Amino acid sequence: MQGKTLFLFTNDLRLSDNRAFLAAARSCQHLLCLYCVDPAWFRPGRFHARVMGEHRWSFLLDSIHCLARQLEQRQQKLLIRLQSPAPAIEQLVSAHGIATVYRSQNIGYAEIEYWQNLCQRHKGVAFREVSTFTLFDQAELPFALNELPTTFSQFRRKAEHLAITAPATAPDIIPRPIAGLNYSPDRLPAPTRTPTSAFKGGAIAGADHLRSYFATLQATTYKQTRNALQGWENSTKFSPWLANGCISARQIAHALSHYEAMIQANESTYWILFELLWREYFQWYALKHGTRLFASRGIQDKCRLSCYYPERYQKWCAGHTPWPIVNACMKELATTGYLSNRGRQLVASCFVHELGMDWRYGAAWFEQQLVDYDVANNWGNWQYLAGVGADPRGCRHFDLDKQTRQYDPNGDYIRRWNGDKTYPLDSVDAADWPIMPH
Ligand SMILES: Cc1cc2nc3c(=O)[nH]c(=O)nc-3n(C[C@H](O)[C@H](O)[C@H](O)COP(=O)(O)OP(=O)(O)OC[C@H]3O[C@@H](n4cnc5c(N)ncnc54)[C@H](O)[C@@H]3O)c2cc1C
Repeated sequence: MQGKTLFLFTNDLRLSDNRAFLAAARSCQHLLCLYCVDPAWFRPGRFHARVMGEHRWSFLLDSIHCLARQLEQRQQKLLIRLQSPAPAIEQLVSAHGIATVYRSQNIGYAEIEYWQNLCQRHKGVAFREVSTFTLFDQAELPFALNELPTTFSQFRRKAEHLAITAPATAPDIIPRPIAGLNYSPDRLPAPTRTPTSAFKGGAIAGADHLRSYFATLQATTYKQTRNALQGWENSTKFSPWLANGCISARQIAHALSHYEAMIQANESTYWILFELLWREYFQWYALKHGTRLFASRGIQDKCRLSCYYPERYQKWCAGHTPWPIVNACMKELATTGYLSNRGRQLVASCFVHELGMDWRYGAAWFEQQLVDYDVANNWGNWQYLAGVGADPRGCRHFDLDKQTRQYDPNGDYIRRWNGDKTYPLDSVDAADWPIMPH
């Protein structure tokens, strides 16, 4: 057993079914639990948007506080730093003689890069990662990562019959915190707006939601309802807790098989696993493709004609486009931080095809806005819709009028989010001449 271990919480803000935390807790006599809020999250990035919008931040903050409370109940402490993780870890490792640093496996390119740099720079410290975010460990996949199938269907056929490891319980005993450290949290940015999101962050709220979802019969009709534009009960709403690691994919899979054994197994219950496999696919896809996840030409290295039109971008973000359905979706996203899968597909298709924009600006806007933002799911789905990703059909261009007739036949959704007021796409013509309203 090592003397002192540091555990860095990232996208695994829970104690149960957290094998990385379990391994860290078993490895040492003194444990330092750390969460880093990176100041860079709050500054505009390359595609104008910030990493962390209000809804996302509010959910994450709830989740961090919930974790801190759970640790306190077990005589541990969470050190919360307003600092990017690499310098924070470096300082703590040298100031406190830490022998081992653990975290959950992260698949984001930037997170891999700083971890590798730390490993290089601190040869005397053991850096360990354990997978906690996915249904399977990398070693359980029936192919090497560089042989990940190029389409989801091929992946699903190989993965859907694999056994899913049962979730692990929280550690009974957690080593004591490291003494002589100031645990008062850094002053964090306050959420700037009263949260209007329906989601409350944290492992406790996540576990409650998981329990209450499977206490209803919604899973039995999931496949028929999941495409709806609105309705809390029409899809599982697991995504925000999954994205922040407040619940694990394995905990959901386990609850699902319990439901299938005790209540009913049908095509709908299978479809929940099917969607979790989509998520799984995009995680390994992101790890395999690295920076190509963010490349305009995507993983297909395909050239698409696109541009950046500031006015179109702003109108799309604000829900001021000529399409009521798009306006309603974008307003729902801005107000709540959530949007149905159907809504995401429609506004992304509009962004790429009707507006002719570089898809990465849309993906970055989603990154800022979505309460369930997940790097692999977001950028993977955007690539897919832009026709530069894993879609064997090339690209998806949705007919917005047809989709409106099909999914909002009475206009209820559009009215609810005031999508009716439409705006012209451009205020100047191709020669920069103002277009007068009729
Ligand atoms: C352009 C675009 C961007 C997206 N960005 C994100 C994102 O940042 N984070 C995110 O979690 N999902 C993203 N999705 C996928 C999907 O829209 C959401 O996961 C889903 O709407 C969340 O609601 P739910 O939990 O009720 O989903 P459900 O329909 O109940 O599905 C259950 C779970 O399966 C997974 N899932 C479902 N659909 C997909 C999918 N298409 N791809 C990957 N996983 C899926 C999610 O983890 C979800 O929680 C995006 C989809 C599109 C089209």
